Amino acid sequence: MTVPTSPAPGGLRSVDEHLQQVLSAVHPLGLLELPLLDAYGCVLGHPLVASAALPRFDNSSMDGYAVRSADVARASPEAPVTLPVVGDIAAGSSSGLTVQPGLTARIMTGAPMPPGADAVVPLEWTDGGLAQVRIARAPDPGAYVRRAGEDVHAGQQVLPAGTLLGAPQIALLAALGHPRVAVHPPPRVVVISTGTELVEPGTPPGPGQVVDANGYALAAAAYEAGAVPYRVGIVADDPRRLTEVIEDHLIQADVVVTSAGVSVGAYDVVKDVLGRLGDVTFARVAMQPGMPQAFGTIGPDATPVFGLPGNPVSALVSFEVFVRPALRRMLGAEPLGRPQVLAAMATAITSPPGKRQYVRVRVEHDGSSWVAAPIGGSGSHLLAPMAVANGLAVVPESVTAVAAGQTLTTWLLERRTR
Ligand code: AMP
Ligand code: MG
Repeated sequence: MTVPTSPAPGGLRSVDEHLQQVLSAVHPLGLLELPLLDAYGCVLGHPLVASAALPRFDNSSMDGYAVRSADVARASPEAPVTLPVVGDIAAGSSSGLTVQPGLTARIMTGAPMPPGADAVVPLEWTDGGLAQVRIARAPDPGAYVRRAGEDVHAGQQVLPAGTLLGAPQIALLAALGHPRVAVHPPPRVVVISTGTELVEPGTPPGPGQVVDANGYALAAAAYEAGAVPYRVGIVADDPRRLTEVIEDHLIQADVVVTSAGVSVGAYDVVKDVLGRLGDVTFARVAMQPGMPQAFGTIGPDATPVFGLPGNPVSALVSFEVFVRPALRRMLGAEPLGRPQVLAAMATAITSPPGKRQYVRVRVEHDGSSWVAAPIGGSGSHLLAPMAVANGLAVVPESVTAVAAGQTLTTWLLERRTR
């Protein structure tokens, strides 16, 4: 079914209204237990409650000698105290050694404290003796001992549900003994490039042919958003073929993203096909770039589908504005949008009336404030400046001219690295 767009001034719908429709149709994916590393970049489904203490046992924080602190309380460089060494305690050992009064044991970092001892004398305070050791400084009781439970006590909530899992959080899960963790899994994004003119990179384009940039761009953008992309490839402007490909891939999709074929051209087949597969809205959104937008749900599971415009910059900006927030919501991650700063424009720019413009900028912090330099023109086929940009400055609908020095909300397009 094709739902006609609600008429907004000038027949356009606002960016906010379209985003609202998108966000009201997507929800965090149901929790799934993933191996720890597969959960990187995902969001914790339940609070993490420690089932054990950390450290799990009292252990030495230095290589040195485990002592009864009272035995060496008078040790000084002038009057060192000499103690017999009863044995070695290595990390991982369960030596069964006890330190009796007047004795000591050599101990390594991370090794369990032997019963009897209440402090560690660092190696550097001694002569390093093996049979007996001269100790030239007195440790305080408890010195260089890492106490069981001083990091985490058993039963303690250490991370709330909703925590984004990066390296330190994954370290904590591992340290507490979890090989797997329940998270909102990364959404699987099926990416389809439509257009009879398209060829694969590596195939020399014939007359009038264009190499598919969008399929790669959108798959990479999905990856950058924390999702798992699946690039299906190129589908010609043939309604039957496009229907087949979408139906074949729905089973593995949490989201379908297509590019091109949503404007008013004679061969814009995405419009026909999506309209027949589900409940999809075709909107003219008051933005530049990226005016034609399709969004809705298709198939038996009401899978969200985005029909993005074909020009590569329009496709990528549309992804930032609509698809990324939807994927973040499915991941259960906050905030949905990119980090934002207020940046002063390095040069004056103009903007079409009644449209929200996303200006590709090179944005930098000059030590005291953010400055954004617009790069390239506003043409939505201009891919090279997009590849140099690291931000999008947002010109509100009502603004048609921005003077140099004027500030605009600017999104920081940080790249995910690995
Ligand atoms: P359309 O939305 O089908 O009217 O396409 C708009 C413009 O984007 C046309 O110039 C297309 O050739 C171009 N285009 C469409 N799909 C892609 C793609 N996957 N990669 C690069 N350019 C594309
Ligand atoms: Mg086309």
